[in-house]
Amino acid sequence: MPSTTSDAAPMIEARDVRKRFGHNEVLRGVSLRVAPGEVVAIIGPSGSGKSTFLRCLNHLETIDSGHVAIEGEALATTDAQGRCTYVPDAELRRICAKTGMVFQHFNLFPHLTVLENLIEAPMVVQGLARDAAVARAEALLAKVGLSPKRDNYPARLSGGQKQRVAIARALCMQPDIMLFDEPTSALDPELTGEVLRTMRELAEEHMTMLVVTHEMGFAREVAHTVAFMDQGELVAARAAGEFFADPGHERARAFLQHML
Ligand code: ADP
Ligand code: MG
Repeated sequence: MPSTTSDAAPMIEARDVRKRFGHNEVLRGVSLRVAPGEVVAIIGPSGSGKSTFLRCLNHLETIDSGHVAIEGEALATTDAQGRCTYVPDAELRRICAKTGMVFQHFNLFPHLTVLENLIEAPMVVQGLARDAAVARAEALLAKVGLSPKRDNYPARLSGGQKQRVAIARALCMQPDIMLFDEPTSALDPELTGEVLRTMRELAEEHMTMLVVTHEMGFAREVAHTVAFMDQGELVAARAAGEFFADPGHERARAFLQHML
């Protein structure tokens, strides 16, 4: 895919983000900029902080220090004395609504049908009328190829179908940015393709995407940029083609050799 222009205002800007859980320093100054329409794959070993970093971008986790902004609006900033402040709650919610998230384990509401899963947040959070929410949901179900499943409960779906519902549900809030945390890692290998295809289509529509993944094929073919995390640091980020030719960092090279 063609690379995006790097001088556009960033959709995501993280600067020197630090986070610890007790004595465990999980993010040690992570910085990343994501341009409009850019697809960034984050790869790296288990426990390197990938999920925590993603969760800090939409306030599922708080940061200890650093700076996080979405579409130029800061969630959290840190002053020269190292004091980290978040914007007020209402602001925080408004800014975080610009991002949608898809989790490894789908996190669908089991007691709601597919359609109800999609319309819940638009109605409750955005105050959308039921008719309008249903129309939006039906269009998205058609897009992910799951219209026939609209009245099924999640338990009746395959893992791949569940994840496509989860993607449609996130899109139903009309986010500008999609965050994916290992969206295919819980799936049987034969079901990953349908989910990756849905994600590829989103990328082709110029959705800004940050994708934590072990799918090197997806990273190589769909992502514009590959970022490698290890031990709480984002140690290498380059254009995907360049990265796979030469990740530019010894630990990234060792990881790639192990993955490919
Ligand atoms: P990855 O997604 O790269 O596997 P994570 O961000 O899940 O890494 O975890 C990074 C580190 O943070 C790990 O050591 C993990 O045990 C720890 N960690 C993650 N979430 C929590 C939490 N809520 N409480 C305590 N430790 C956590
Ligand atoms: Mg993780």
